[in-house]
Amino acid sequence: MPSKENPPAGELPSIKRRVWLEKSFGVKGVYRDRNTPADSPAGVADDRAARQALLDEIAAEVATCHRCPLYEEATNPVFGVGNPCAELMFIGEGPGAEEDLRGEPFVGRAGQLLTKIIRAMGMQRSDVYIANVVKHRAPGNRTPTNYEIAQCHGYLMRQLEIIKPKIICALGLPAAQTLLKSEKSIGALRGRFYPYPDNPEIKVMPSYHTAYLLRNPADKGKTWDDMKKILAELGRPVPKR
Ligand code: URA
Repeated sequence: MPSKENPPAGELPSIKRRVWLEKSFGVKGVYRDRNTPADSPAGVADDRAARQALLDEIAAEVATCHRCPLYEEATNPVFGVGNPCAELMFIGEGPGAEEDLRGEPFVGRAGQLLTKIIRAMGMQRSDVYIANVVKHRAPGNRTPTNYEIAQCHGYLMRQLEIIKPKIICALGLPAAQTLLKSEKSIGALRGRFYPYPDNPEIKVMPSYHTAYLLRNPADKGKTWDDMKKILAELGRPVPKR
């Protein structure tokens, strides 16, 4: 169980914060050698390994999670994939049929479109982190209920605490509303940055879900505008078109 104490302020990989995370999540043995500078190749690799170890602990909890009934009909939990030190995190609604079978988020048709978008942004899937607000598939791909989302929210919060991306791209209404604690429509929310309420250092860009874009390709241009804003915010090259 996470510690009830408040976390020490500051950025990973500060040792104090790392120790707090490890204590909170019950992980041992991922301390960096104090002679290894955080920004050296070994320090970066250690930091990445430490974060991955913490994420693996949570994934193991999700694998046996019965906090809501979604696990009953799901084939596999779908925890999340990608770079545990990612600057950019995409968060969708919940696994679909293909994701449920493979245990990986965004690998079906909507996922393939997301992969295309990530590549068009000059990155690979392995550069970013991809997850969902719920970790088990809702039967028939229905929208997860508020109860199911609330039961799963602690896992997402812990993923965000460990990865601490600069930017979260919230794909679709359930992700945008959950992350921003808002009731506005995705059309009203998308296209600008908001501080993430639980950590205002992180910016949230709501955008259309790629499943919506498959049904409404005319809105792809708006999504691309959102992605260009993300690239500019990250200080990465922004394509002209
Ligand atoms: N839609 C989502 O919201 N998440 C996935 O992982 C796949 C499709």
